[in-house]
Amino acid sequence: MSRTIAELLFGGKEEQETDYDQVYPPRALKAGALVSRFGPSPTGFLHIGGVFAALISQRLAQQTEGCFYLRIEDTDKRREVEGGVSSLIQALTHYGIHFDEGPIGLSKEIGRYGPYIQSQRAHIYRAMVRKLMEEGKAYPCFVSEEEIQEIRKSQEAKKVQTGYYGEWAVHRDLSFSEVADYLKEGRPYVIRLKANPLKPKLVFHDLIRGEVELPTNYQDIVLLKSGGLPTYHLAHVVDDHWMRTTHVIRGDEWLSSIPVHIQLFEYFGWTPPCYAHISPIMKEEGNSKRKLSKRKDPEAAVQYYQEKGVPEKSVIEYLLTLANSNYEQWRNEHAGANNKAFNVELHRMNSSGALFDLKKLMNISKDVIAGMKAEEVYQEAVAWAKTYDPPLAELLTEKKEYGLKIISIGRSGEKPRKDISQWSEIREIYGYFFDELFQKPDVKQDYPKNISAEDIAAITQKYIARFKDNEKNYSNEEWFEEIKEIAREIGFAPEMKLFKANKTLYRGHVGDISMVLRIAITGRGNTPDLYEVIQVLGHSKVRSRLKI
Ligand code: GLU
Repeated sequence: MSRTIAELLFGGKEEQETDYDQVYPPRALKAGALVSRFGPSPTGFLHIGGVFAALISQRLAQQTEGCFYLRIEDTDKRREVEGGVSSLIQALTHYGIHFDEGPIGLSKEIGRYGPYIQSQRAHIYRAMVRKLMEEGKAYPCFVSEEEIQEIRKSQEAKKVQTGYYGEWAVHRDLSFSEVADYLKEGRPYVIRLKANPLKPKLVFHDLIRGEVELPTNYQDIVLLKSGGLPTYHLAHVVDDHWMRTTHVIRGDEWLSSIPVHIQLFEYFGWTPPCYAHISPIMKEEGNSKRKLSKRKDPEAAVQYYQEKGVPEKSVIEYLLTLANSNYEQWRNEHAGANNKAFNVELHRMNSSGALFDLKKLMNISKDVIAGMKAEEVYQEAVAWAKTYDPPLAELLTEKKEYGLKIISIGRSGEKPRKDISQWSEIREIYGYFFDELFQKPDVKQDYPKNISAEDIAAITQKYIARFKDNEKNYSNEEWFEEIKEIAREIGFAPEMKLFKANKTLYRGHVGDISMVLRIAITGRGNTPDLYEVIQVLGHSKVRSRLKI
């Protein structure tokens, strides 16, 4: 009987399971190699948690010389955004997350386990559902949404479990002619699983959480929706089986669906993959923790980091600290090493949700940028500015050599300068090198309060007089001797020690002179070494800025 219903619904014979076994044979990989995947919906929004999950999956495949593929889960057409797939691939590629297989070629897919876009796999889902139906494990259900609500009300009144199951599943055993009549009437239908659980509980091993006990599934869940598209449950099981996934690493919102998934694998007669359910990234709010939210937290979106110009390397570096707590120690012991050499381990992942700390990310980013060569900093900053700050890009590229000199200050040597965490800070931190961006400080407001306007005028004038010669090259020591002279001339101590020993004798010290000059020349109280800044700016620009 069920065979004829299947024929009624699906027409003539479709491909049989044995065919798929030949189309998608077990992968020829070395022992222990892991096959993992990333399965985003093309909504156009990439959550930082998505990058996190993709990173973990990719690293595990890479570490074992396995395969990491991209599968587009586009069965919810309402959420789809045009260009969503390509922007997603582009963003992940920036983060160094590359796929071995998937819809990643310019015009075609790469890999032999496709199609990798779920909406193109309808024939496979239908064939698999048909198989279940022929074995009496699935059936068409014509019950309308209103009728489902009625069932629910009766269940609530009787204080029994709500849902579509057992004796409440009124279309479980429709006859061939009933189905034929409904079809003739043009009634919409879904295909449901006929759940007949044998045991009340399921004990399952999660690679992050260890042993988890869950109630077995008894609901006749939907497999194919009324438009013929699969539910997540069916698509997950069918795709991960035929794509020969060994490890499903996904968000823990799917943990409660595990009984459905395991049951489906069982009904199909397939071995389930290993599962690891990742807890969401959390955020501290007051004294409590909540999920990092797309709606409330701008830093949840990958776009946030792109707009601010936080290097992808920094984000990945930070995400690795969230993934495995031993990562930081590894980093300390392997400064400068490629983080791909670190072995990510699922059992070391936090099962209660890692806490997202933007300050820490930015601090890590300062280290990452400090570790880059000047040329790399320059290239990345320009690439960012071209999109997000074109006037700055123009200034930096107009005079490349000058731009490079600016970036190079304090960047070589044992302790490179740690000042920028994101490219958007360059305008503020280094903008004064360009007359177009320089903001003249205000004598009344921007200088230290203990230094009078007369002293400021005297210091700047004396500097101009001493450094008249554009051609003369001063060494750092020679330059500093001149600064000390200026201090002496206006009654400031030429050495800090002297000042400390006899505060009543001096109105200030040599450090005050540098500070006044620094502010007058750059408009900032905090800059790299002033001598080096002046070297880059050149004497004539410095003199013109000192004319107060
Ligand atoms: N499309 C699913 C999601 O975004 C994928 C889950 C999975 O990896 O199986 O949640």
